[in-house]
Amino acid sequence: METMANTFTVEKAKTSKIHDVDFNNLSFGSTYTDHMLICDYVNGEWKAPKIIPYQPLSLDPSAKIFHYGQSIFEGMKAYKDENGQAWLFRPLENFKRLNKSAKRLAIPELPEAYFMEGLNTLLQLESDWIPQKPGSSLYIRPFILASGTGFHASPADEYKFIIACAPSGAYFSGKVKVLIEENYSRAANGGVGYAKAGGNYAGQFYPTQLAVDKGYQQVIWTDDNTHEYIEEAGAMNIFVRINDTLITGPTSDRILDGITRKSILDIAKDEGIATEVRKISVSEVVEAANNGTLKEMFGAGTAAVVSPIAGFGYKDKDYDLPELTNSYASKLKQRITDIQYNRAEDKFGWRFKV
Ligand code: PMP
Repeated sequence: METMANTFTVEKAKTSKIHDVDFNNLSFGSTYTDHMLICDYVNGEWKAPKIIPYQPLSLDPSAKIFHYGQSIFEGMKAYKDENGQAWLFRPLENFKRLNKSAKRLAIPELPEAYFMEGLNTLLQLESDWIPQKPGSSLYIRPFILASGTGFHASPADEYKFIIACAPSGAYFSGKVKVLIEENYSRAANGGVGYAKAGGNYAGQFYPTQLAVDKGYQQVIWTDDNTHEYIEEAGAMNIFVRINDTLITGPTSDRILDGITRKSILDIAKDEGIATEVRKISVSEVVEAANNGTLKEMFGAGTAAVVSPIAGFGYKDKDYDLPELTNSYASKLKQRITDIQYNRAEDKFGWRFKV
C-alpha cells in the first residue's frame, strides 16, 4: 500500500460543536462532526489528503458536478463497542466499490492509502463523535465530485474526494409497505446501476414519491426490460424467503453489489439456512403470497441493516406478509450487528479496528 505519512496534514477546528449535540436523540445523517477529509485531483494526480475543519465548499458555477452529475459516493459506519473501542465493517469493500464507481463515471481512481489511512486518521480525530448507545453509529460518507469547470459535456479535469461523518441514531422505520414497480426503472443494462452514482438516486425520487402518494413507503425496482423480475428495494438489496429458502437476485449491471447483501448470504449459510442467488420473478412472489409459502421479504443495506417488509402492492392489489416470531430478518440482523459492534466472534474477519 502506498503510504502518505509524510504528506498528510491535519488542521484542527478551533472549537468543537460536540457539546451542542444531543447524543440521546440523534436522527440519521443530519448532524456533522468537527472535521472532514479533503483531497484534490489536479494536474493529473490525486494530491495528499488534508483533514480540515468541517466547512462549506466553494465551487465555480460551471463545475461539471452541477451539469453532468459526475459524482459518486459510499456509505459506511463506525461502531463503538462496550469498551469504547471503534470498529469499521469491511471498509476495503467500500474502497473497492468507490473505485468501481469511479471507473464507470470516468473519474480517476483513488489510491488505497488515501482512502484507508485517511479514513483511519479522521476517525481517530473524531473518536468522541462515534456514539456508543445501542444501535447508534457514526455514518461515514466518502464521495467524489467533479470540481473541474466547463460547459462542454466531457469528464472534468479536477475532482475533490471528501469524507464527511454524521453521528446517527438507529435507522428505524418499522416494517414497510412496498410497491412493485411496473413502469419506472432504476437502472438498465449497460448503464450505471451497479455504481453508487449520485444521479441514480435523483432518478428514484419521483417514482418513489408517486408510490408514497399511493400509501407505500418504498419502491421495489424491477428489471427495465420486462418489469417481471424484482431487483432492489429502494436503496437496498432485496431478499425473499419462500418456505425456508432465502433468495436474492444476482448482481448485474443493474444491481448494486451490496456489502450487507453478501455478508447476509455468508451468515445465512453459516446458520444452515438454504440460500439461492437467482432471478426472482414477480409472478413467483405473487404466487407464493397467494399460496402462503411467501414467509418474508426484506431490504438489506448499511443504513438500516435489515428492513422488513410488511406487504406489497402489485397491479392495484395488496398482499400481506405473515408476522413471524422467529424471522430470518431478525436473526440475521442480530448476527451481523453482533459482529459490527464487537459483541460476537468475528469468524469471517470482517471487523477492522480503528
Ligand atoms: N442498493 C443500493 C441501490 C444502495 O444504494 C445500497 C446502499 N449502499 C445498497 C443496495 C446496499 O449496499 P450496502 O449493503 O453496501 O450498504
